Amino acid sequence: MAELPSEEELERLLADPAHRHNPLLPLVAALAERNREQRIRLERLLRISDSSYCVAISRNQDLLQQYDRQLKRLDKITRISDRYQRSLLELNDQLRQAALRDPLTGLANRRQLMERLHDEQARCRRGQPAFALAMLDVDHFKRINDTYGHDTGDRVLCRLAETLAGQLRTQDLCARWGGEEFVLLLPHTALEPAGALLRRIMTAVRELVVDEVPALRLTVSAGLTTHQPHETLDDTLRRADQLLIGAKNAGRDRLHLAGA
Ligand code: GH3
Ligand code: MG
Ligand code: MG
Repeated sequence: MAELPSEEELERLLADPAHRHNPLLPLVAALAERNREQRIRLERLLRISDSSYCVAISRNQDLLQQYDRQLKRLDKITRISDRYQRSLLELNDQLRQAALRDPLTGLANRRQLMERLHDEQARCRRGQPAFALAMLDVDHFKRINDTYGHDTGDRVLCRLAETLAGQLRTQDLCARWGGEEFVLLLPHTALEPAGALLRRIMTAVRELVVDEVPALRLTVSAGLTTHQPHETLDDTLRRADQLLIGAKNAGRDRLHLAGA
């Protein structure tokens, strides 16, 4: 196809006197005019489309920035909420620990002991060997309070708790039953080995020296028994208590033990 002349060239050709008498001149002039109008229209359309494209782009960028800001905000909120959730879980854990511990001695409290006893009882009912249970009571503890004061009495209870817990195996549990009474739970232990462990514990108590009151000598009385699969936990606890009372009545600082 022949190359078309530019608009300027066409105007120059139309104005050339050499073509003045050409019969196609008016038609070519009309075509050139229409071409010019089309070009102007096209240019206007292009300008409009360019500017709306720019508006769309900048609107898009705005939206992207907003989206980015929201994401950052969300990320921050998530991190804060994660932190709160973690500290809530820790607090929950601490609360649970506190609910299961005796505040003075740090030993398991009666509630934790009962939870463990129920676990052990369930194990026993599934045919596992029985657990042994000992109830211990400090001899003449009232005299210690009366002689040295209640605060020293507290300190003595703490040292005693350390001594008891220090003698146990990892699977055993020492709980403060209340006042100056303690319960030892010895899982998977028959009466005789439990008796041997109790005697070692009672020797350690006799040898215990409390720094504040070096002259003080402590003794405990104890009742020891084993749980029977057919009985309730109350039965076992009551039997240990009766044995403890027997040890007290027999003169204190001694162990009374018996099966069911
Ligand atoms: P027994 O040999 O018959 O057990 O005599 P006891 O004096 O140990 O027994 P009693 O039941 O007469 O007295 C127990 C004392 O233990 C009385 C009570 O004030 C004291 N006690 C109980 N709990 C605490 C405690 O948390 N801290 C102190 N310091 N003393 C306590
Ligand atoms: Mg008592
Ligand atoms: Mg006592």
